[in-house]
Amino acid sequence: LVEQSDHLGGETLNLRTTLDGGDIREVVKQKIAAVNANNNITVHFNSKIVDINGGIGHFKSIIQDAAGNKTEVMHATVTIATGAVEYQPKDGEYGFGGDGVLTVRTLEQQVADGQLDPKSLKDLVFIQCVGSRNDEHKYCSRVCCAATVKNAIHLKEKNPDLNIYVMYRDIRTYGMREDYYRKAREMGVIFVRFDKDQPPVVAQSGGRLAVTVFDQTMGREFEFPADRVALASGVVARDNAIDVSRGFKLTLNTDGFFQEAHVKLQPIDFASEGEYLCGTAHSPMSVDEAISQSYAAAAHAGSVLGKDELESDACVAVVNEELCAGCVTCVRVCPYGIPKMKNVGMGIAEISPVECHGCGTCVGQCPAKAIELCGFKDIQLGAMIEELFTFEPDPA
Ligand code: SF4
Ligand code: SF4
Ligand code: SF4
Repeated sequence: LVEQSDHLGGETLNLRTTLDGGDIREVVKQKIAAVNANNNITVHFNSKIVDINGGIGHFKSIIQDAAGNKTEVMHATVTIATGAVEYQPKDGEYGFGGDGVLTVRTLEQQVADGQLDPKSLKDLVFIQCVGSRNDEHKYCSRVCCAATVKNAIHLKEKNPDLNIYVMYRDIRTYGMREDYYRKAREMGVIFVRFDKDQPPVVAQSGGRLAVTVFDQTMGREFEFPADRVALASGVVARDNAIDVSRGFKLTLNTDGFFQEAHVKLQPIDFASEGEYLCGTAHSPMSVDEAISQSYAAAAHAGSVLGKDELESDACVAVVNEELCAGCVTCVRVCPYGIPKMKNVGMGIAEISPVECHGCGTCVGQCPAKAIELCGFKDIQLGAMIEELFTFEPDPA
């Protein structure tokens, strides 16, 4: 395990409870204890991977710690689980930075840690889609509607007299989370729909807060008093995702999250074999979804680790070193990033037969005709074409 910080747990340590009240930190604590007790697991804290070579079954990584010490590790697979972070609202965004305006996560922490007594509040406003579904981050963060509904229910349970207003564009409590949305409504939480072009305005007012919003459903403007305004901040990719993607030659999508090989058929695989993906490094997701995905990634890695030998596809590209001119065309065009240059003279291309997918792209592009695909060599294709044109069907 290569961990960039000085502890395990990542962003989950900032969460407190699940929708149904489960203690997230307790589960994480148990997992960390299990990792520490397992002699087969080595954790490199304050570390990062500075170099990686090889492919499935024979990766070689250099891990560097904060003091600059380097450790070489051989490994069969790689799983990217670098996570994501909460969007930090800008100063002044929905009044953020002013008294009483905080993110939903901070509100949850303050209540759970005893810093804020729900009974001390009279009016509370949630504002949804903060930092999501806008020009900067076009995607839905998927977890913030459920987080708001969860906190609204927990606060209502602690203080039934608390007035809670949720300013939303759409409520996306997908799956069984919809039951909690219904429960929140039944408990008296008021949901007010606003348009993207008419967002709520938060102002300090006589020692309290006032939120003005144009209610799309009612077709008129309302002003809500508030002791706290909780911003449902979205999930954004980590800044260092780009460095990790470059180091491992992996693809990021336009939102900065890691791109899987196929959204439905290979949701936790990368295009290169032996490299897997899980958690919010892939996209915004809830804790239970991240756990399911990590089980899937572990199962895929286990299917490699459980073998004594790996079989490569028979149809792979082979470089004729005598013809290779070192032009790096194959390095550029391979969709899986397989060809590498060996430093011999001008450089000679090298293609790992274990990693090659046999797509043939480099074969067609090599200007020196130095690459052939096993089973589809020029001489074999030529013989097939010749046979095709000399073939005379039986008139009968
Ligand atoms: S989950 Fe809800 S609050 Fe979050 S971005 Fe999607 S619609 Fe907006
Ligand atoms: S494209 Fe052909 S000539 Fe160029 S580096 Fe690759 S194998 Fe060598
Ligand atoms: S055959 Fe396809 S996968 Fe293999 S090295 Fe060439 S371009 Fe890459």
